[in-house]
Amino acid sequence: MSSENKASAPPAPSDFIRDLVAKHVSEKKYERVHTRFPPEPNGYLHIGHAKSICLNFGIAREFGGVCNLRMDDTNPTKEEVEYVDSIIADVKWLIAGWADHCFGLKPKGTTPEAISSNGNRDFYLPAVTDHESQITNLEPFYASDYFDQLYEYAEQLIRKGKAYVCDLSPDDTDKYRGAPDRPGKDSPFRNRAAEENFDLFQRMKAGEFPDGTRTLRARIDMASPNVWMRDPLLYRIRHAAHHHTGDKWCIYPMYDFAHCLSDYIEGITHSICTLEFEVHRPLYNWILENLDLPRPLPRQYEFAKLIPSYMIVSKRKLISLVNDKIVTGWDDPRMPTISGIRRRGVTAEALRSFAISVGVTKYISVTDIAVYEHAIREDLNQRALRRLAVLRPLKLVVTNYPEGKSEELDAVNNPEDLNSGTRKIPFSRELYVERDDFMETPPPKFFRLKPGGEVRLKYAYIIKCDDVVKDAAGNVVELRCTADLDSKTGGPTANRKVKGTIHWVSAVHAIDAEARLYDRLFTEAEPDKDGRDFKSVLNPKSLEVVTAKCEPSLRDANPELRYQFERLGYFTLDPDTMPAKPVFNRTITLKDTWAKEARKG
Ligand code: ATP
Ligand code: MG
Repeated sequence: MSSENKASAPPAPSDFIRDLVAKHVSEKKYERVHTRFPPEPNGYLHIGHAKSICLNFGIAREFGGVCNLRMDDTNPTKEEVEYVDSIIADVKWLIAGWADHCFGLKPKGTTPEAISSNGNRDFYLPAVTDHESQITNLEPFYASDYFDQLYEYAEQLIRKGKAYVCDLSPDDTDKYRGAPDRPGKDSPFRNRAAEENFDLFQRMKAGEFPDGTRTLRARIDMASPNVWMRDPLLYRIRHAAHHHTGDKWCIYPMYDFAHCLSDYIEGITHSICTLEFEVHRPLYNWILENLDLPRPLPRQYEFAKLIPSYMIVSKRKLISLVNDKIVTGWDDPRMPTISGIRRRGVTAEALRSFAISVGVTKYISVTDIAVYEHAIREDLNQRALRRLAVLRPLKLVVTNYPEGKSEELDAVNNPEDLNSGTRKIPFSRELYVERDDFMETPPPKFFRLKPGGEVRLKYAYIIKCDDVVKDAAGNVVELRCTADLDSKTGGPTANRKVKGTIHWVSAVHAIDAEARLYDRLFTEAEPDKDGRDFKSVLNPKSLEVVTAKCEPSLRDANPELRYQFERLGYFTLDPDTMPAKPVFNRTITLKDTWAKEARKG
């Protein structure tokens, strides 16, 4: 549990879905509010899913309910165990300490029969994420665990004359369906006798027919203005192994059939999804209402997707970035995946705060990436330990500081957190400063170092640049400066004002670290707008790698902590770190650094 956020807990969000849930609670419509987050394990979760997680778990949390994690795994060909594992890890990370007490998981190996016969009550063990052993005995729900029950429900529809086996080819099925402005045409198999349907469906299951030769369809209305109601497919034949059920099945239920019934089996009350499912809602209700199911039935509610600018939120498109090696993997810190965001150094608190603050509406719009970046900076400013590091080093010699001498200066760890304490940073005659902090012929308002000019070295002395050493090509390779040795904290001229303050490290004490400087992956705010090839607008500068000179305390950097390299941005340790070679990811730059420093100076 993070202590940081307790103090500034934001007010409980309010939106049209929560208003409805509140109404249902006050009417005692359900015994308990029960939501679910139902990803298809066909890719890693992205920032859009973070919004869905925060909404579904948030509602469970606010209304004393439970939110199930369910793998919506009805399509054998695109799903993999790697994705299942990553989804569990990402959800756990995002809700730990916030909503893990209403995390609906089940003891490993619980049978589907037990889930549906137990009134769905005993299986929702509050997950304790900091007790790994406890959570490893729990697992998510799988739609594929309900394949037997779904099959029985399908038989029930057949018996009632509400479903039939259709022999139309996939092409003909499409043709017969018509279009939104043109009614469909009845399949010639629509009036098959229940007995024949029953027999054919069993033989489909037994594997007698090849892929694509037959389907099971609901018998609804081929003239419905809603094409989803025109005898939609309930089952198709797929001779393919499934990551969870193996070779047991060669027919697989369609999303629309499996989803509403999985919700029902788990006792979901509010099935919340994104707007593209609005047109599926009549079918969701039709299936549940045409089976003999005890009430109450789950209901579906839709909200607009989160689409942040400069990002892509489609697993299919993200997969192609991975496959084409445009990024190093799903967790590349430039990816909008939850694992990429985490590796980049964004905290779960910051991601949640963003995902919640954007609100829940019915209007599709692009969210300005600045809102996301603001949430990250707000969070990191509170928690990050301040450190000195130089990304593009330029040697600086303090000519009046004795050779061989060094001293330890006090520096506060985090001015935003009085409990963070101080540390010692070594100062000596030879330093590194940021190349950008020196200009030989600067513009008028340049308050950093210039020939004859003065700046303060943060936590140390005021120095004056006397001389510049250049190489044969005319590049500046060294600055020669004198320090006002009375100007450090506590000294007679400590309060003397100069316009600029710059950061530095002591050359002999500094450690080398690889710093990975990330920028947006795309140059356009809407990379895939109007079907544009998003790979045509990749930002060639989305990653720059430099060798930084860091203050020695960063040798013991902790991957769990966040650092602010003063004046440069927020950094976190990357898992690529080796014992003698730290690797830091820049999570985000600081805002308005120069203006702020100039004002302070
Ligand atoms: P993708 O198009 O990226 O594959 P999806 O909707 O197919 O997304 P699912 O795994 O089916 O991915 O999504 C799980 C849940 O997350 C669904 O309820 C879905 O509505 C929701 N979701 C997906 N994308 C977003 C988004 N951008 N914003 C909010 N919720 C989302
Ligand atoms: Mg989907």
